[in-house]
Amino acid sequence: MKILLTERQIYSRVRELADEIQSSLPRQDVFVVGILTGCLMFLADLVRHLDTPMRIGFVVAQSYHGTATTAGNLEYNVKSLPDVAGKHVLLVDDIFDSGQTLARIADEIAACQPASVRSAVLLEKDVQRATDFFPDLVGFRIPAEFVVGYGLDFDGRYRNLPYIAALDAGDEYSLPTAKGDVTP
Ligand code: 5GP
Ligand code: MG
Repeated sequence: MKILLTERQIYSRVRELADEIQSSLPRQDVFVVGILTGCLMFLADLVRHLDTPMRIGFVVAQSYHGTATTAGNLEYNVKSLPDVAGKHVLLVDDIFDSGQTLARIADEIAACQPASVRSAVLLEKDVQRATDFFPDLVGFRIPAEFVVGYGLDFDGRYRNLPYIAALDAGDEYSLPTAKGDVTP
């Protein structure tokens, strides 16, 4: 497992993103909508640095199935969408890859007549995309590798790692050993 982003790098970039969001968010009716499950760490860290009245809601979406590292069909639960009519929405996701997840959910949200929609992703993968949609805020641009940690999983595992690492083929069934190499 190769560490791409350390805990410290993530911490300081998330603070910067929060500052950018803070300066542009209206001070009312903000609805932060996270795309589960990958957004969990990023959203939790981001909102703790935002000093604005807000509600937090989630949409459950999945595009990777089982142990696969290539995207499958996107599935999400529209019924889990919070009522965002008239609200300023901040969509939060872990990683922008093909773009289909965020583009589709942003469309669904837009159809609910929100006051505004902005989107923030921690990672943007350096890949060709089929969609014109692009998030307003990006934490880091990373190479086209499958990454885990800080909320991101492989087969449901590794989400708890405080850093982000690229998964090698041989890593898939072994526990990470790199934890001790990272200074908090
Ligand atoms: P997209 O719809 O942009 O292709 O994919 C976005 C979703 O796929 C992300 O929210 C994330 O859940 C998952 N995903 C994309 N790339 C990766 C990756 O490198 N690692 C992990 N663990 N999930 C990924
Ligand atoms: Mg996701």
